[in-house]
Amino acid sequence: MLTRRSFLELTTAAAAAGAVNAQTATKSQVASGTPWYRTAVRWGQTNITERDPTRYDIGWWREYWKSTAIQGVIINAGGIVAYYPSKFPLQHRAEFLNGRDLYGELVQAARQEGLAVIARMDSNRTAEDFFKAHPDWFARKASGEPYRVEDKYVTCVNSDYYQQYLPSVLTEIIERSHPDGFADNSWAGLSRANICYCENCSKKFQDKYAKPLPRKKDWDDQTYRLWNEWNYDRRLEIWDLNNRTTKGAGGPNCLWLGMNSGSITAEANSFRDLRRICERSDMLLLDHQSRTESTGFQQNSDAGKLVHEMIGWDKVVPESMALYQAPSFPGEVSFRLSSKPPLEARMWMYEGIAGGIQPWWHHVGAYHEDRRMYNTAQPVFQWHKENEKYLLNRTPVAKVGVVWSQRNTDYFGRDAARTLVDLPYFGFTEALLRARIPYVPVHVDDVGKEPGKFAVLVLPNIGVLSDAQCALLRKHVEGGGSLIATGATSLFDEWGNTREDFALADLFGAHASELMKKRMPAAASVHTYLRITPELRGKVWGPKGGDEPAPSGERHPVLKGFDETDILPFGGELGPLKLDSGVTVPLTFIPAFPGFPPEVSWMRQPKTDIPGLVLKDKGKAKIAYFPAEIDSRYGKDRLPDHANLLANTIRWAGGDGSSVLDVQGPGLLDCHLYSQRDCLILHIINLSNEAAWKAPVEELIPVGPLRVSVKLAGGVAGHLAQSLVSNAQMSATASDGWTRFQIPSIRDHEVIVIR
Ligand SMILES: [Zn+2]
Repeated sequence: MLTRRSFLELTTAAAAAGAVNAQTATKSQVASGTPWYRTAVRWGQTNITERDPTRYDIGWWREYWKSTAIQGVIINAGGIVAYYPSKFPLQHRAEFLNGRDLYGELVQAARQEGLAVIARMDSNRTAEDFFKAHPDWFARKASGEPYRVEDKYVTCVNSDYYQQYLPSVLTEIIERSHPDGFADNSWAGLSRANICYCENCSKKFQDKYAKPLPRKKDWDDQTYRLWNEWNYDRRLEIWDLNNRTTKGAGGPNCLWLGMNSGSITAEANSFRDLRRICERSDMLLLDHQSRTESTGFQQNSDAGKLVHEMIGWDKVVPESMALYQAPSFPGEVSFRLSSKPPLEARMWMYEGIAGGIQPWWHHVGAYHEDRRMYNTAQPVFQWHKENEKYLLNRTPVAKVGVVWSQRNTDYFGRDAARTLVDLPYFGFTEALLRARIPYVPVHVDDVGKEPGKFAVLVLPNIGVLSDAQCALLRKHVEGGGSLIATGATSLFDEWGNTREDFALADLFGAHASELMKKRMPAAASVHTYLRITPELRGKVWGPKGGDEPAPSGERHPVLKGFDETDILPFGGELGPLKLDSGVTVPLTFIPAFPGFPPEVSWMRQPKTDIPGLVLKDKGKAKIAYFPAEIDSRYGKDRLPDHANLLANTIRWAGGDGSSVLDVQGPGLLDCHLYSQRDCLILHIINLSNEAAWKAPVEELIPVGPLRVSVKLAGGVAGHLAQSLVSNAQMSATASDGWTRFQIPSIRDHEVIVIR
């Protein structure tokens, strides 16, 4: 249990120690000689409210830091609200600060505990007095009115507020307290939803492009697209400017880290180019605090893998994890002072850890009447500490890559990215999860970086692809890699202009329909089906009455399990499209017919030659192109037929050699396999709970036994399987390049180290 210490005793001690005047290395830093951003992996944050200076029990929190085994703290310093006596009079002091240096005292306490310190800023708004003193530093509407959020004024990223004032605040904080680094919550400024027409923006845009700012949002207008790119570039300039400032004043390890989302759509909406940020940073801080209803806990491991594939698997990517009741749907209420049901918080953490994320607990406020939240983090953080060496510095073992790009989110997704881009992505990745097939997200510009790494690349409705990106994908196929693409993939260029045909039509063996070129929004479900091609359906049984000829030949592997049906539900629209010779079409489109009343619910046109799926062999590679966007449909309707069809197609495309893992037994399980030095590491998250698709979870339902087979790699013999969670003894048997063992039961998660 935590002990309470006198608030007075500690504040007196801090005062006696004086202002923190030297950078104190953390214990782990001293031991290893490596910088803090490689050694501090578990983090904690008490996000201070303006009321807290009167009631921040530093002694109690120090005990809490210890009990949760954190190695670093994020402490509110300045920005919207300052928690120290700044020399800048307009930096708004916390209402109850009363001249105190609460931030400095907390830094001092953290240093005494050997913790790394990140000073937290939130820089994008100010109070009215600031606005009145520097009216030219603020974002303006076309009318000249300033942009406001409640009673605060939004600063402009192109003004001297960002260029000069903030760097001077960062320098002041470094000189006062020498934090290891900085975080900034809303560093990216005004979101894409609004155009700033202030004098700074107008002049800078005019100077660069010799034309005025776009008058309104219009994705077909090249000026608006340039404005979008110009905004992305400015955020990177700010990232670099702030890092030059903090490294200049605080030394080469004093990183400035803007917060980032694990959602690419959220990143795009605030001009944060996640890939280019990963390229320029030694660490990434994720602000991706809880699951949304549209996906499940698995969203967190996906985000972890996505970021690590870019920034590197040797780097630390902590993620702020809410211990309060964060909304499960964007825009819903956040109960800042209520405890999140502990299993909901912990399952999110375990999924993040399975994807390579480091845990970071986050409380809003330093005093809580709902004290249950103080019990949530400890078991996860202690477990993390004990098993840390297996949770860092490892690389995923997966033969399936799911391709994404932020440019596709921008110029194909436009204002409907959640349905056009996220829905197919999550539909496909959840079909992989359900089939227990490990995958990693791959940025399209990274395709081919390690030739032969992926047996199959999946392109879930990646409408926007540049010619250069198409060339990378072609090279992957030429090297024998398989490809699965859906929907409008490659039909648009890098600006979102519609091409005459798919840029990858030669690979697909199929050409774009006129319907697709109309830039279809993801349609609501319509009453359509897909027909299984009789020649490929194998044996059938049941009543006579159809018009189909007797089946012949073998069932095609992508149709595995559909032995007792000639049709599959679809739900989308398809137009006629031209095919090249030499392709196989296992599914054709059945157009919509009435569903109500039942008397009229019969197919008016039972058969068309419009393909729903086109298969092709190209050398060693197999290509599957789905005109029928089964991934989006699965994301929307969750029909098992759709998930099974996608999984069958992956297995067909990957061939025999692409399997790395087989897990048999009941339950919805998210499986991740890694390789590290002399071992393989398998994470299994048990998602089979009563709230798999709707937060929050209250009760876990154990599953097991599970029969596991893992393909051996990296010289691992496979004779030992050691559990890091249940600590169950498992005997592993290695033969034919695989090791096999049985996991008796999994409650929340399990991690197995295989040697
Ligand atoms: Zn502006």
